[in-house]
Amino acid sequence: MDEPFRRYSTWLLSRYGERTYRVAVDAGFTCPVREVGLPCAYCEPGGSRAGYLEDRRSLGDQIRRGTEFLRRRYGASSFLLYFQAYSNTHAPADELRAVYDDALSWGSFKGLIIATRPDCIDRERAALIGEYRGRGLDVWVELGLQSADDRTLRRINRGHTRARFDEAVHMLREHGVSVTAHLILGLPGEGLDAAIAGAQHLSRLPVGGVKFHNLVVVEGTALYEQYRAGEFEPPDAEQYRELLVAAVEHLRDDIVVMRLTCDPPRNVAHAPRRLPDKATVYRQLTHDLRERGTRQGIY
Ligand code: SF4
Repeated sequence: MDEPFRRYSTWLLSRYGERTYRVAVDAGFTCPVREVGLPCAYCEPGGSRAGYLEDRRSLGDQIRRGTEFLRRRYGASSFLLYFQAYSNTHAPADELRAVYDDALSWGSFKGLIIATRPDCIDRERAALIGEYRGRGLDVWVELGLQSADDRTLRRINRGHTRARFDEAVHMLREHGVSVTAHLILGLPGEGLDAAIAGAQHLSRLPVGGVKFHNLVVVEGTALYEQYRAGEFEPPDAEQYRELLVAAVEHLRDDIVVMRLTCDPPRNVAHAPRRLPDKATVYRQLTHDLRERGTRQGIY
């Protein structure tokens, strides 16, 4: 049956003709807000690393371990290189080039994905990243927007505005780089209207993909203190389900939906206590859109 939203796994299959997997690496970057001791209010101390990267190894070693793991577990043979942890453009352009070139030399990849912050993209970096298209790679940059409301962005210490996000998207697109945006649903002070506004804002931009995250409040973060003080409640599974359906219905229909939930934090207190698993959220979203007789982008 026709899928009611543009699902990443389906898109990857049609793009590459086979199941294709991301090999996540940690190149040792940090991010500007962490450096000044003001990380995003929801960001756990470990940042945003893949589960199997317990320590920093050479890029070659990480890539070997990552591809071996994916081959063993999924029989994978088609890979994208994914700079995932922290802000992977937070260094001078010549250093970035050396890091990207090194990593790409350790495997055979169909694409390069670089996760970063909008304020770590300028014209020079956008041009550098765009050059990798000349090597036959699909090139994507993942940028956190998180909320389309500047008041929320201030409240969660993002350290950039919505306009700065828009500017980074346009700079990257000028160099042919595809952009994935991250959006958190259920941030403090945000509900259904904000979820819709976030999806509508992305739909007005030349964005090719979106990653939705449910807000999870993790011990050790600034948001956890606000939560403990009773200042807000993160959405539970049912509330998140409603936010997600509304956001997808308002998301332009060519934008690939690359993620629907965040990874649950390990060995650390968090709220809500019970988190929905990925497969359930995919199933529920498909079910809800079908039952409502809607689909991605209907509004
Ligand atoms: S930019 Fe990313 S890694 Fe850095 S503090 Fe914010 S969420 Fe964490």
